[in-house]
Amino acid sequence: MTEARRRRIEEVLRRRQPDLTVLLENVHKPHNLSAILRTCDAVGVLEAHAVNPTGGVPTYNETSGGSHKWVYLRVHPDTPSAFAHLRAQGFRVYATALREGALDYREVDYTRPVAVVLGAEKWGVSEEALALADGHIHIPMLGMVQSLNVSVAAAVILFEAQRQRLKAGLYEKPRLDPELYRKVLEDWLRK
Ligand code: SAM
Repeated sequence: MTEARRRRIEEVLRRRQPDLTVLLENVHKPHNLSAILRTCDAVGVLEAHAVNPTGGVPTYNETSGGSHKWVYLRVHPDTPSAFAHLRAQGFRVYATALREGALDYREVDYTRPVAVVLGAEKWGVSEEALALADGHIHIPMLGMVQSLNVSVAAAVILFEAQRQRLKAGLYEKPRLDPELYRKVLEDWLRK
């Protein structure tokens, strides 16, 4: 490990945002999962969450650009336990929903602890997750096609969160408590 590499790892870790995350509900295509983790890395998500109700372990491919090494992915057995875990950590949980009445995603305050639920490629977010969520958000669609690819939707929303957090100065000093920072640093230095 060179000194430059260690410095780079520490710089990135100082920008990680433990209170911004996504919950991927049955996003099962490896290229979508990989692309979302790559975006998570770029905006500073420390840990992403996934539920795969139809079974199977989430798999990555080269689309991740190696980001899966730097963004932890916690897999939950089902949607209610994922929500319970996020709520216990103080997150407000917003589900993406392609339906009337959902808030424009830019109306959410992403400087607060926020988790965004993204849904399966074919079916979207489940009714169960929609019912559990604190709010529903959508990206306005003005074309002929009703929805975006899930990884594109994740990027649009997460970069709005990044914009708000940059403005609020949340990338300027370490956000992880010292004990967690030490643990993650130890882990990253082994990679
Ligand atoms: N037929 C599905 C539906 O009605 O939800 C379409 C699913 S879409 C291809 C897959 C996921 O991408 C959605 O569950 C949502 O998480 C995200 N997504 C796609 N377009 C979106 C939009 N305009 N606003 C918010 N999320 C969107």
